Amino acid sequence: MKRVTLIKGDGIGPEISNAVIKIIEASGAQIDWDVQTAGADVIEKEGVPLPDRVLESVKNNGVALKSPVTTPIGKGFRSVNVQLRKDLDLYANLRPCYNLPSVKTRYENVDIVVVRENTEDLYAGIERQVDADTAESIKIITRKASLRIAEFAFDYAIKNNRKEVAVVTKANICKLSDGLFLECAKEVAKKYPSIAFREVLVDNCCMQLVQNPNQFDILLLPNLYGDIVSDLCAGLIGGLGIAQGANIGENYAVFEPVHGSAPDIAGQDKANPTAMLMSAIEMLNYIEERKAAEKIRKALFATLEAGIKTADLGGSATCSEFADAIIDRI
Ligand code: ATP
Repeated sequence: MKRVTLIKGDGIGPEISNAVIKIIEASGAQIDWDVQTAGADVIEKEGVPLPDRVLESVKNNGVALKSPVTTPIGKGFRSVNVQLRKDLDLYANLRPCYNLPSVKTRYENVDIVVVRENTEDLYAGIERQVDADTAESIKIITRKASLRIAEFAFDYAIKNNRKEVAVVTKANICKLSDGLFLECAKEVAKKYPSIAFREVLVDNCCMQLVQNPNQFDILLLPNLYGDIVSDLCAGLIGGLGIAQGANIGENYAVFEPVHGSAPDIAGQDKANPTAMLMSAIEMLNYIEERKAAEKIRKALFATLEAGIKTADLGGSATCSEFADAIIDRI
């Protein structure tokens, strides 16, 4: 039995976590959940939104399934998500984006995997007020981080039978920083002759994505562009309710939906658990529970095909009704 950390989060986190756990149990996957609380609700008791015990749990188990955690604004806490990524060195943010059955969008047959560098670039948080009217943010790109994320993208391509990696930068303007990221991607590409490689500028990439998303396979991006372009890709396939994600490092992996804690609909049994469930399917594959993952994927698709959907996708099912419909099909 594999022990997996479960971070239940807040807002809609507990509702969608409960739905997903019930579904995973029905699939027969052998998981011993190490449930950890984090976020706004634990601050009162423990003083911080991400207590050390949560990090220790992920370090012990190696893998976590996480639902959204709110970081209170303006109270001086580091973002829980950023802290998790930094402390566990989860350098790769992975976001597979593909159409789901019966989820109508502007595009069909989208199948893009976004690989985003997760530790540096403008998100390193190195900023200063130069004077009252000038602020400065420093963009850090290193050879080490650029090489390892490029390796991750090509390795993922090989393991998942993908055809092409497109590296996305603004190397014509940020010649040194994005130039280095591009140079590293080119260097790694040479080691993988069976995977096609191309370079795209980020502005052109955005236009191409909305004109013809089907041309793309794997996108490899530095942190800032990756953040923006991955949300664009989530929009191509139907939005936040279904967009899955994972943060992966050398030793640990945290699987989580892309969306936030959606306080506007929390506690109403309205949230769509699909994004969390899709993240859980990837987690199951990661821990080699492939049969269970496939059972759940098929049952999810059959449920959607039967027209059973939550309100965000135009349906009338509650979160728990949707989960029960999936369990019936398992
Ligand atoms: P954060 O800053 O934590 O990302 P946010 O407010 O920017 O939070 P979300 O919490 O993801 O973003 O919510 C954005 C909108 O999408 C809200 O109106 C929310 O109700 C909706 N939403 C997000 N996730 C879901 C979901 N799983 N099911 C249904 N609606 C959702």
